[in-house]
Amino acid sequence: MLDCAIIGGGPAGLTAGLYTTRGGLQNVTLFEMGVPGGQITKSSEIENYPGFFDSSKTGLDFMDTWQKQCFHFGLKHEMKKVESIEKTGEYFNITLEGGEMVEAKTAIICTGAVPRRAGFNGEDAFYGRGVSTCATCDGFFYKDKPVTILGGGDTALEEAFFLSNICSDVYVVHRRDEFRAAPPTLDRAMRKENIHFITDSLIDEAYGDAMGLQGVKIKNLKTDEITDMSNTGLFVFVGQDVKNDVLKDKQGEFICKMNELGQVVVDLKMHTSVEGLFVAGDLRIDAPKQVVSAAGDGSIAALQVISYIQEQQ
Ligand code: FAD
Ligand code: NAP
Repeated sequence: MLDCAIIGGGPAGLTAGLYTTRGGLQNVTLFEMGVPGGQITKSSEIENYPGFFDSSKTGLDFMDTWQKQCFHFGLKHEMKKVESIEKTGEYFNITLEGGEMVEAKTAIICTGAVPRRAGFNGEDAFYGRGVSTCATCDGFFYKDKPVTILGGGDTALEEAFFLSNICSDVYVVHRRDEFRAAPPTLDRAMRKENIHFITDSLIDEAYGDAMGLQGVKIKNLKTDEITDMSNTGLFVFVGQDVKNDVLKDKQGEFICKMNELGQVVVDLKMHTSVEGLFVAGDLRIDAPKQVVSAAGDGSIAALQVISYIQEQQ
């Protein structure tokens, strides 16, 4: 029986693991279906995490030391996908991919979010073959070549800046003429000579052949004019969707209270509507979607788990 099962190994899950084990819990396992680190490992930079101030380091570099530190106090790690979690009586039954079951006294769900699809023609067909959601992973394929970015948030404009140092030109296609990105991020991108903005526009179609993407058609939403941009890679940064599947029961109903966006309702102590079940990070309501806040949530949930177990004894 685990004292605590942590599901998801991004900033929230890793921090929850650090705090539960350093706080004295002996039997804590972090279930992470990939390599621990979470979404930030896809980022080309991180400049707003206090205490870390090195613009030459990527998100992957940044998370490297987290793993060393968070596993130092006895947190165990299983590289497995969790399919579902349910509370039976006092304890939680966690079903892993392949059907294996694990029992735990408490659980902290930190499954975060994944890149959203924009929904244009050809997006799925060329995903991974010219359409990407990770500039650090795929940017170098377009060295000295033009690329197109879809989106107008922080991710789109930060990654536009990153790609502008590798690619010949970066075309940022955004559906409005105002940007959601933070003003300094927008400002920096606007000052870069090889970043070009195509506003009030959408990707109408991504086209290509068996070899992969060959180009994109961009539609101006005000004039309906279509511009053909051939010979370009396409990066899609249109937000994230929370990963809440593990919280569905066999009937497809959520086991705890959610909001209309599929985010988990928690209080300030990361308690969900189910006793002993906590949620931390991007998956919760009103998440600021920042590494620093995901980590903060993880620490709060972990401290609550320790109190909860003490109260049960
Ligand atoms: P995540 O980081 O999403 O981690 C969730 C983890 O759970 C993943 O590793 C996933 O594999 C795992 N998982 C999911 N489902 C399962 C399952 N069923 N079983 C097992 N494991 C599962 N924030 C900043 O503060 N500064 C930045 O500069 C910044 N830049 C960003 C750049 C990009 C490109 C992106 C995408 C995000 C950026 N963010 C930034 C936001 C930040 O990365 C997130 O807010 C943060 O990672 C959320 O942490 P989390 O632990 O809640 O979830
Ligand atoms: P976001 O802030 O939700 O922005 C998504 C962008 O994509 C918006 O500009 C949106 O347009 C556009 N969009 C959405 N759906 C679209 C569609 N179907 N077709 C075309 N365009 C579409 O997402 P994000 O930039 O990934 O950021 C997510 C969160 O992480 C935010 O809270 C952000 O602040 C945070 N983050 C922070 C940092 C940082 O602190 N440095 C870095 C990255 C991310 P509209 O503007 O018109 O809605």
